[in-house]
Amino acid sequence: MICQLNGTFAAVYNPGMIVTIRGMIACPTCQATQQQVKSGFNVSGSQRFLCKQCQRIYTPCPNKNGYSDQVRRLAVQLRQQGMSYRAIGRKLDVGAQTIANWLKIEDGSRTND
Ligand SMILES: [Zn+2]
Repeated sequence: MICQLNGTFAAVYNPGMIVTIRGMIACPTCQATQQQVKSGFNVSGSQRFLCKQCQRIYTPCPNKNGYSDQVRRLAVQLRQQGMSYRAIGRKLDVGAQTIANWLKIEDGSRTND
């Protein structure tokens, strides 16, 4: 994943990890490019930065939250093959109720399980 912000920041991500950083990161509050340090990761695994000038913590390239469309499509396929919500949930490491919600959206109606 390549992320660009205001042409000042570009990062290539391996799942959740910065591999390379080119250019300078600018603080969204004070626009400082000096003393911008890494400061852990947020819930979705995106790198967070701390501005040591104004103490603002920010995420220049946030990952998308939630499950990918690929996982959702796979859940629908497995359901069509006759797997139960719980079996699909175990296979894809997703909660059974989440699977049920996706399939409800997919059919536009609730089905008996
Ligand atoms: Zn700042």
